[in-house]
Amino acid sequence: MRWQGQQLGVDDTAALPGMERMDGLVRSVTTPEFAGMTFHEVLCKSALNRVPGVSAMPFDWTVNPYRGCNHQCVYCFARKTHEYLDLDYGSDFDSQIVVKVNVAEVLRTELRRGSWAREPVMLGTNTDPYQRAEGRYRLMPEIIGALTENRTPFSILTKGTLLRRDLPLLADAAQQVKVSLAMSIAVFDDALQHSIEPGTPSAEARLETVRAATAAGFRVTVFLMPIMPHLTDSVAALDDALARIRAAGAARVVYGALHLRPGAKQWFLQWLEREHPHLVSSYRGLYPGVSVTAPKAYRTWLGKRMRPLLRMHRLDGWDEDDHPRGRPQPGLAARTPPASSLGPLRSTGVSASARPRVAPASEPTLF
Ligand code: SF4
Repeated sequence: MRWQGQQLGVDDTAALPGMERMDGLVRSVTTPEFAGMTFHEVLCKSALNRVPGVSAMPFDWTVNPYRGCNHQCVYCFARKTHEYLDLDYGSDFDSQIVVKVNVAEVLRTELRRGSWAREPVMLGTNTDPYQRAEGRYRLMPEIIGALTENRTPFSILTKGTLLRRDLPLLADAAQQVKVSLAMSIAVFDDALQHSIEPGTPSAEARLETVRAATAAGFRVTVFLMPIMPHLTDSVAALDDALARIRAAGAARVVYGALHLRPGAKQWFLQWLEREHPHLVSSYRGLYPGVSVTAPKAYRTWLGKRMRPLLRMHRLDGWDEDDHPRGRPQPGLAARTPPASSLGPLRSTGVSASARPRVAPASEPTLF
């Protein structure tokens, strides 16, 4: 098998031209198990990414073991970030996956520094840590171990059913640190899910994972996001989604309308023209020019539609708009409040300037 024949420092000829210049690249490999995909294995210099100060995300630190994501969600926020690697936001994002093979080792070193204040760390906001590649590379067990050993609370947001593999480890970790788990399920219609998220497990498989995590003792949040105008926002579709989420035992639901960032917007509109051409003019009206978010009127309308359904299904539901970015998001690890607001007993005594110096990451997203 080609994979087994790979040696460190040997480039695969199937790799994209120029990738050998990628910073820290060890090798680029393909394997029949992952047809159509290339993994670019890199040695990273830092594992903890500080969320840029301008970001309104409710957490300060992320760890991203992979770049690119073969879950291939057409609407994915992170697509544009692949251009920093001289790759494109479309099929390259789906198939050219950068794997930080030493991420756990580097993370351990960073977390052991005396200056680390054990602030919450978020996984799954840039790309999915339980995408298929994780089945091969098994980076998450070591990452979970490093965070737990160093008493660092963490959250995981994923669409991957591979999360089940690590539930025993996560349950052990939760005995020592706060662990929050969230499953992202945006599309409950199998045909639409296959079309718009072709690399993801089915909604039912993800609900089974919610059940398993709940049985393991976690209060799981389901991110019913993005809700897409005319595609997933009918009463029937939302009612079906909430009934199934409730039946799976999820603790709460966070919902929000589709955002279309640069890169994702072009890719999404191409998909729409191909698959649902009759909706193109409507979407161009809702997301004109460079606008990223659906109009306030649509989001208000969606909230009015969701609230009675949430009550009917007796679900604890949260509108993304009710939790402005920068404020704690239900079900995710929250930013540690400033020491001044904690009072002397809870103060860590570590100032922001004493935090480990790490490279800033591109701005994370929630889905
Ligand atoms: S939205 Fe999440 S799961 Fe989908 S491609 Fe992007 S990172 Fe992967």
